[in-house]
Amino acid sequence: MAGRGKKRRRPRRLRKSGKRLRRTFWRSFETTGAAMENLEIRKVGIVGAGVMGSGIAQAFALAGIETVITDVAESALRRGMETISASMDRMIKKEKITPEQKTRALAAIAAERDVQVVAGCDLVIEAATEDERLKLDIFRQLDALARPDAILASNTSSLSITRLAAATRRPAQVIGLHFFNPVPMMALVEIISGLQTSAETAAAAGRLAQRIGKTPVKVRNSPGFVVNRLLCPMINEAVFAVAEGLATPAEIDEAMKLGANHPLGPLALCDLIGLDVELAIMQVLHEGFKDPKYRPAPLLVEMVEAGRLGRKTGQGFFSYV
Ligand code: NAD
Repeated sequence: MAGRGKKRRRPRRLRKSGKRLRRTFWRSFETTGAAMENLEIRKVGIVGAGVMGSGIAQAFALAGIETVITDVAESALRRGMETISASMDRMIKKEKITPEQKTRALAAIAAERDVQVVAGCDLVIEAATEDERLKLDIFRQLDALARPDAILASNTSSLSITRLAAATRRPAQVIGLHFFNPVPMMALVEIISGLQTSAETAAAAGRLAQRIGKTPVKVRNSPGFVVNRLLCPMINEAVFAVAEGLATPAEIDEAMKLGANHPLGPLALCDLIGLDVELAIMQVLHEGFKDPKYRPAPLLVEMVEAGRLGRKTGQGFFSYV
């Protein structure tokens, strides 16, 4: 029973090394030094021309940065360019950009089927389908094609940047650039450093995010990063509340809008994100941390099984038909 109730102190040597580790960790995110000045990014390659890839290309092109977008599907490339044009038309209508800015931005984007185009880029952002095996293959391919000094980034919502980096011969130059949907509207970019990512790479990514008018937040690689780690459990808890009969979905959303000043209630937000996407992120958190506090709400699982995925299927916690 000796020592019970007493606060146990770690040996001085371990306390010191813990402090040193913490210092090293934070220092790795600092933006100092001349080396980073060499990492000026002039041309950006984007792999995957879907919802996110096209939005990311638009953001870079509007900032005057030469951009090349590539996709395995010709139809995706065509759709991506149409989406970009239509999005900029809306921005013109709202007087956020001028028609001349649109013309200049479109001229700054090249759409190419052949992934070899990444060879001339300073940064390549992978924004392909969320599938680990596919992304690992793409990273190996990009590593072989891109210049040795180029940075390779992923827009993944849930996969480990450390694992993607390990698939390349340049792990220090691999980083997560997590944009939010819709990219032209959303101000945040999470800059995710894997265990191997260098301070120079993180600093260059942060500066670049600022150049395109976004606010970077630096995050250590971890399941869900920051936003999804906090947002998705809140939505999941709202689903538990519905199942318990705590209040109706409309009442829960009203309470959170008025009581927490959220622009959208958690259940309407879940419908917008897609119940399948919410479930997938909760599964990543649950498996990543092995902590039961992240277990997906059984009602969420059941609704996904029923095909009630939210807005995209016309039915979620609310009806859209
Ligand atoms: P999407 O399905 O709209 O687009 C994916 C594109 O990748 C498709 O056009 C597909 O043809 C292409 N693709 C597949 N394999 C390819 C390959 N080998 N080479 C080149 N292109 C390939 O998906 P999305 O919603 O744009 O998501 C893309 C990434 O962004 C995912 O990792 C996702 O987790 C992440 N993300 C999505 C959101 C969102 O709200 N949709 C938000 C943040 C991050």
